[in-house]
Amino acid sequence: MQQSGQNWNDIISSLMQAKSKDLHYEKVLSSMCTYPHPIAVEAHKLFIESNMGDYGLFMGTYELEQSVLKMLGNLLNHSHPYGYLTTGGTESNIQAIRAMRNACKSIQNPNIVVPTSAHFSFDKIADILKIEVRKSRVLSDLTVDTDHVSCLIDENTIGLVGIAGSTEFGQVDPISKLSDIAFEKGIFLHVDAAFGGFILPFINKDLPFDFSLPGVTSIAIDPHKMGMSTIPSGALLFREEKMMDFLRVDTPYLTISSQCTLTGTRSGASVAATYAVMKHLGRDGYTQMVSRCMSLTQLLLQEAEKIGLHPVIDPVMNILALSVSQPKKIRKELANQFGWQVSITREPLSIRLVIMPHMTEANILAFVNDLKSVLDQFESSENNKS
Ligand code: PLP
Repeated sequence: MQQSGQNWNDIISSLMQAKSKDLHYEKVLSSMCTYPHPIAVEAHKLFIESNMGDYGLFMGTYELEQSVLKMLGNLLNHSHPYGYLTTGGTESNIQAIRAMRNACKSIQNPNIVVPTSAHFSFDKIADILKIEVRKSRVLSDLTVDTDHVSCLIDENTIGLVGIAGSTEFGQVDPISKLSDIAFEKGIFLHVDAAFGGFILPFINKDLPFDFSLPGVTSIAIDPHKMGMSTIPSGALLFREEKMMDFLRVDTPYLTISSQCTLTGTRSGASVAATYAVMKHLGRDGYTQMVSRCMSLTQLLLQEAEKIGLHPVIDPVMNILALSVSQPKKIRKELANQFGWQVSITREPLSIRLVIMPHMTEANILAFVNDLKSVLDQFESSENNKS
């Protein structure tokens, strides 16, 4: 650090220079984040100093957090859920499994069963919590194979995980079947709805995934993805209050006597942002926003089919995975020649497109045009070789 402080204008100009190297979301089809809603940004700024790690000092923000939990409970069919606002899906998943593990202290070598399609946060969980994470295979439609889940369960299995909106394909596991298995075995079931939690309640699809299923014991849902809040905004909800006690540690020198959160200091700004955007949009606003993303996904699918491409699965949500040969090369050329950001799925290999609220019809059409151009170049270079 330099000895004397720099002036405000010089710092802002360095910041703007750095920001100019950041990409704009308009050409990003690889991210589950988007521009936050303007009212979320406004609320975030208003509560910038609020620390929920010591919420006795910020009782107003704490009340907002309780309201958010109530609104999320209302979306997820629980009149009084227990939980807190996290930094995102990773923290929610870690804490859900940590609570299960602590609830089952008598089991020496605990394991959980997750689908192979689970987010990589479950690999972090295996490492941090020293718990075995068993991976269950998926069927051809990329939903978890519940027969295989049942085979992987043994006397050391403390819980299952189902995904409501998988990261790569936007697929939803048969949560209702997982709920039956978990209920019958008397084990926990955590639902990772980090992405799908702000989609499924707003589309007309018969895909139950929430607390209406008796076996579901916890849910992760991320306001900073399709909830249009600011980063970092995740949420972890439990069916029962006692699960919070399994996370509790004493905090002797704070205004509160204990904490159930993973982080200590915690942003009150994103609590306010989430409150503001959920209140402002309401069910109608989210329904409109999700329906627009779903229509754009259908448009992208139709246009892709016109150029001879097919989806790996029929899109359930606003994620489209297109089967192509050489996906890695295509991704590179789309970025280098046209500035598009797309990602690649693992199994099966495909290009993955997430159609977030920042996408427009014009951009979808421009993207397909550029994709066609890259595919044509590949074809003509193949022809020249032969
Ligand atoms: N779970 C799912 C299904 C996700 O798609 C993601 C992120 O893409 C996560 C968890 C992790 O969320 P975060 O990056 O907010 O920690």
